[in-house]
Amino acid sequence: IFNKDLGQHILKNPLVAQGIVDKANLRTTDTVLEIGPGTGNLTVRILAAAKKVVAVEMDPRLAAELQKRVQGTPDQRRLEIMIGDFMKAELPYFDVCISNTPYQISSVLVFKLLEHRPMFRSAVLMFQREFALRLIARPGDELYCRLSVNVQLYAKVEHVMKVGKNNFRPPPQVESSVVRLEPRNPPPPVDFKEWDGLMRILFVRKNKTLSSSFKTQSVLDMLEKNYKTFCSTHDMMIDDTFDIKEKINAVLESVDMGGTRAAKCDLDDFLKLLVAFNEASIHFC
Ligand code: SAM
Repeated sequence: IFNKDLGQHILKNPLVAQGIVDKANLRTTDTVLEIGPGTGNLTVRILAAAKKVVAVEMDPRLAAELQKRVQGTPDQRRLEIMIGDFMKAELPYFDVCISNTPYQISSVLVFKLLEHRPMFRSAVLMFQREFALRLIARPGDELYCRLSVNVQLYAKVEHVMKVGKNNFRPPPQVESSVVRLEPRNPPPPVDFKEWDGLMRILFVRKNKTLSSSFKTQSVLDMLEKNYKTFCSTHDMMIDDTFDIKEKINAVLESVDMGGTRAAKCDLDDFLKLLVAFNEASIHFC
C-alpha cells in the first residue's frame, strides 16, 4: 500500500514521534511547517502543541487520509494541507519546521529551508544517519565535508536522537537520526556563490594542503579567467608580470594557511581566507 518511490516509511513508534515534537520546543503561538506528513503521526502531536500546522504532502491519497483524521475535531481548522511537491512549493510563513521525508531530497530540502525568508526559529528533521553525521561534523571529524561547512555557515546544527529502522513500517534500508537546525540570525554577510566556489576547491581533497589544492590546472585556469573578468569590469590594469599562481600563493602566505588542510579548518579560517582572496581580487564565481 505504501509508495516506495515517495519513501513512505511511516513512523510507528509513538515515543519517537512524541520525542521529535518535544525536541522542537513548540510554543502555543507557533505556525509549524510539516513536510511529508504521511498519515499524520507527527501532525496530531504538533497540533497539540502549536497554533497552526501547514503540511505539504505529495501523495493525494495520504493527504486525504490525514484530512479524515482531523475531520470533525477542533484541530480541523488549524491544519492546512498543501498537496504537492515540497521542492516546488512556495513556502508559507512558519516559525518551526518538522519533517520526516524521503532521504533522496535531504540536501535540497535543507538548503531550501535555509534560503527561506523570513528566517524560521528552528527545524527538527529526520535524515539518514550518515547524512545527519555529515551535517554535524566538526573540523577533524572523518565526515567533515563541504555539506558540513555550507550548512554550519547558516545554522547551528545538533544531533537530537538516533532512530533505528524498526521504528518504521515498512522498515527502511538505513538507520536514521534526528537533527535540530537553528538558523543564525542575521545570516553571515557572505556571498554564498563565492563561499561555495572556494569550498568546492578545498574539499576535493580535504586532507591535501591548501597550497596543493590550488595547483590543479583547471582551478588555476578558472581563477585566472575570473581575475581577468574582474579587472576588466573594474577598470583595473593587469600587470605584465601577472601570474595567477604567485598571486594565490601570496594570499595563502598572507593568512599563513598554505600548509593547513581543509579537514582541519573551521568556519572562521575559511571566512578569513575568502576575504583575503577577494581583497586580492580573486573570485570563485
Ligand atoms: N511524516 C510521516 C511519519 O513520520 O510517519 C511520514 C513519513 S514518510 C518517510 C515520507 C512522507 O513524505 C510520505 O508521506 C511521502 O508521500 C511524502 N513525500 C515524499 N516526497 C515528498 C515531497 N517531495 N514533497 C512532499 N511530501 C513528500
